[in-house]
Amino acid sequence: MSELPDCFYCRKDQRLHDLMIEIAPLGVSTLYLFKEQTHPGRCVVAYRGHVNEFFELPEAELTLYSRDVARAARAIKTAFAPSKIN
Ligand SMILES: [Zn+2]
Repeated sequence: MSELPDCFYCRKDQRLHDLMIEIAPLGVSTLYLFKEQTHPGRCVVAYRGHVNEFFELPEAELTLYSRDVARAARAIKTAFAPSKIN
């Protein structure tokens, strides 16, 4: 897993900051909240390295990433009280 020059998650450049607000670094990822909140709590848990699909992660990283996603989901549940989290 390496960084890609055109990926705004890897670059953390203005394109990213135009769309999202960094909420917190997690274990192997960063939680971002979309500025556009048609769906309250819409966010992304961006893995620290570049992968196209989460299932491409090695098993150990997949476990750590899953923990981050669960932690983010709990926070979203607390903050936004959604009826369902996708
Ligand atoms: Zn990337």
